[in-house]
Formats: sequence, structure tokens, C-alpha cells
Amino acid sequence: MSGAETTVGPKNGGRWNATLPDSIFAKGSSGRRGLTFPAWDGDPVTSDLPADCRRGIPADMPSLGEPEVMRHFTALSNLNHHIERGMYPLGSCTMKYNPRLNEQVAGLSGLADLHPEQGPEDIQGLLAALKLLENSLCELTGFAACSLIPAAGAHGEYLGMLVIRAFHLARGDRDRDEILIPDSAHGTNPASVVIAGMKPRTIASRGDGRIDLDGLREAVGPSTAGIMITNPNTLGLFEMDIQEIAAIVHEAGGRLYMDGANMNALMGKARPGDMGFDVVHLNLHKTLSTPHGGGGPGAGPICVTEELARFLPGPWIVKVDSEQDGKNGGTYTLEKIPGRGSNSIHSYFGNVGVCLRALAYIMRCGGNGLTRATECAVLNANYLLARMKDFLEVDHSAGCLHEFVATGSGWKEKYGVRTLDIAKRLLDYGLHAPTIYFPLIVEEAMMIEPTETESRESLDSFVAVMEALHEEAKANPELMTSAPHVTPVGRMDEAQAARNPDLRWAGPCNCG
Ligand SMILES: *Cc1c(COP(=O)(O)O)cnc(C)c1O
Repeated sequence: MSGAETTVGPKNGGRWNATLPDSIFAKGSSGRRGLTFPAWDGDPVTSDLPADCRRGIPADMPSLGEPEVMRHFTALSNLNHHIERGMYPLGSCTMKYNPRLNEQVAGLSGLADLHPEQGPEDIQGLLAALKLLENSLCELTGFAACSLIPAAGAHGEYLGMLVIRAFHLARGDRDRDEILIPDSAHGTNPASVVIAGMKPRTIASRGDGRIDLDGLREAVGPSTAGIMITNPNTLGLFEMDIQEIAAIVHEAGGRLYMDGANMNALMGKARPGDMGFDVVHLNLHKTLSTPHGGGGPGAGPICVTEELARFLPGPWIVKVDSEQDGKNGGTYTLEKIPGRGSNSIHSYFGNVGVCLRALAYIMRCGGNGLTRATECAVLNANYLLARMKDFLEVDHSAGCLHEFVATGSGWKEKYGVRTLDIAKRLLDYGLHAPTIYFPLIVEEAMMIEPTETESRESLDSFVAVMEALHEEAKANPELMTSAPHVTPVGRMDEAQAARNPDLRWAGPCNCG
């Protein structure tokens, strides 16, 4: 097959921008190897596998040396954008650098080699680590109890809704099935409410982007199960009236759920438990630096008040009093909750490896380090906001917390360049796009969150690229409306690509 440029593009309307080598999946040469197993000097190995299930001829595996394997995977990883490659200012999603220390800790053989069916007596170290994480998250959020089980933020929302529902039902309060949600909310919020069997009800934001208290007073009533609030909200604005909001909702008999995706703005500064919330989820893969994206494992633990603790799914990790059993550091047991098995939302303890990475990060930073992370995240966002204001309109521009929302509607009117075009063109400059078209209440929205892990230099280069794009939009808008040009794949039909993803390799080698 030739390596000439091909017009055969990926499905979903994309085109190939780059000529990828034919050999991308056809590597190796017989006899090469990267690993040599020690000779076996025991008895011949026999297998219980029935003869007709055994392989008759050796598998056709590529034969490669270690350097070739490394280069292959590095080349593949470079076809995509990732945090080790460049800035990823994805608003609301807190794409911060994932420290390698986290990987080392989660990879320790005393943790990584455990089997989930091992009894508590075998996994004392793991249980101690998970309990320490539960306690740390309670401390960070100001709550009494924690469940590490949810596998994502949305999964935590779902569990939080089940907990609130169970609380009302346990009191015989059967009619509370409505959850109020501000119109700036993330789409997972109403979805979680529906999946948990309740009804979302939208409440409008005020002109300044925050919850309208009068509207809230009118909306609460005997059917109010609770309210779900992101704080700071998705415009990056702190809900100043949160204590009054809590009073209104509690007065009406409801409970308050905080979507904690934006905790990177609050760590060490303010705690949802102190604001009057009853439940919060944390996205460990956002705020607490564990890897993120690609639908890969994340974790969305929830923390709750004393009142709601008994509704958390088991098994609970319980520390047996250390003085009673006379051992240093105490012993941990797993308490199964009779009759509560059906409330389980994940096998075993959730995504343990992710939890251990987050614990490594928390222990490495310490309380002061987490506070400093928040301070720097807010500083970085305000720096970008101040520098970008001259050429990009910013909604609610009175300053921000850890992220801000700009609008591309000025560029659209003046140059015919949309936010989508800006996002695609940024990829050509080696930067991931911000979150676009969210929150829904801002036209041509561009939600920018640099995080604390970007240096001053990388923030400056982002600003320089945005300035360059502004000039491009004036002089040569087509360059932007047809971007990206240097990524391996050109512009896709986004709806098709999301709904009918075609993940098979069907590239220039035409082998798909
Ligand atoms: C990311 C996010 C969620 C969902 O969290 P996942 O971990 O992706 O399921 C919910 N709300 C907000 C505001 C978010 O940014």
C-alpha cells in the first residue's frame, strides 16, 4: 500500500489532514522480542482446557523490541490531545496535571495486587487507606460520612438522589419527588434526578447569573425533595446567598445537594457542609488530580450529613477501636447492612485505584497544599480573564473564581467566526479547546478553566494564541471555519461522531 496522501477520510464526515504511515499497525519482524521469560524447569504444564478450545496454530502477534513498542504507543498517544502534550483549559472539567506520584502509590503491589474477594483480615492496609480518604474528603467538605463507591460525578449525583429519596421515604414523606435545578446546571443534574425516579424542575437565574431567591420561594413546597446546586456555579460565580437558599429549602422540608465539580475553587476556603448543604459529590478525576477522560475510570464519592449517613450503601468500612483490640492503629472491618444490598450501585468499593491516586495527591499536598492549589487556580483564571477581556467579551466580568465564561458572539457577528471555529482552530496551535456552548444560558459560550497546574508562561502563550486567532478571524476567517488543519483528523460531523462513533481503524492504509 502506498503512503501517498489519501482522500479516504474517517467516517462521520471527517477528513484526513495528515499522511499517516501505512505501517502504523503493521510493525515488527519475526524473531524480535522485548521480553524474555526465564526457562521453565518444573513439570510439564498441563491444561484442563478441552482440546477443541485450544489454539492449534500460534497467534499472529507482532514481534517487536521494546523501543519499537514504546515508539508505537507514544506515536498513537500523539494522535490525540492530552494534558501531557499541552494545555487543556476545559471549563467545569478541571483538567489538571496528574502527578506521577499518584501512579506509583496506586501501583504498590500491596494495593494493586489485591483481589476484591479477599476478606477484611487480608486487606487491612487498603481499608486503612480508604478510611483515611473518606475522612479526608469529609474534612475537605465539612460532612460526617462518605461513600467512595460512585464511579463518576454523575454516578455520585445518582446516589445522592437515591439517598435523599430514601431519607424522605423513611419518614413516610412519599410525595416529595421534585428536585429544583437552576438553569445554568450541567446536563447530568436533571438526568440523574430522572434516573433516580424523581422529577427535575428548572428555576431561572437572575440577571447576575445567580439563583433568584424570590423564584426559589415560589418554587418550593410539599413536593420539594430537594435542590441541586453547583457552587460556584457553571458561570464560575459563587452563590452568595447560599445560606439563605439553604434556609428556604430546609424550611420547606427539602435537602440540598451540591454538585461539587467546581471544588477546585473552594478547597481549604469554604466547605459545602458549612454552607448548609446535605450532600456533595467530588469528582476525584477533576479536583483531586486523578486521570480523566475517554470514559475511563473516575470516581465521584459523595459526602453526607450525620442525618443521611445511614442511607449510604455498604459495605461500610468501620474502624474497630484500637484500644479494645490492643493493636497499633486499630483494625478495620466491613459492615454489611442487612437488607440494603439492593442499594448497591457498583461492585465492591468502587474504583479503588482511582481513590488511592486521590489519596496520594491529598497526602502529598496536605491541607495547606490543597488550599494553595485553589488559590493558584483562582489566580490563574483571573489572570486569563484580565488579559483576554480586550478582545473577547466576557459574561459577568466582575472577576471570577477558578473559571470564567466568555462569549464568541461578537466574533460571530463581526467576522462570521463561531465559537466552534475558535475551538477547532486552537487544536492547530497545540491547545485543547475550552468547554464550548456550555452553560446553555450564554450564547456562543466558551468556558475557560486553566487550573493551578499551568505556569505563567503557558497562560501567556494561550493568550498569545487567542490574540493570533483574533487577527486571523479579521483577515482570513475561512482558515478558522475550516479548521483544524494539522490534527490527524479534520473537522467531524460532531453529532454523528458522538451518536455513531466509528472507532475502527480505517485510515490511509484502507485496511478497515
Ligand atoms: C463534570 C461535571 C459533572 C459530571 O461529572 P462526571 O464525573 O463527568 O460524571 C457534573 N456537573 C458538573 C458541573 C461537571 O463539571
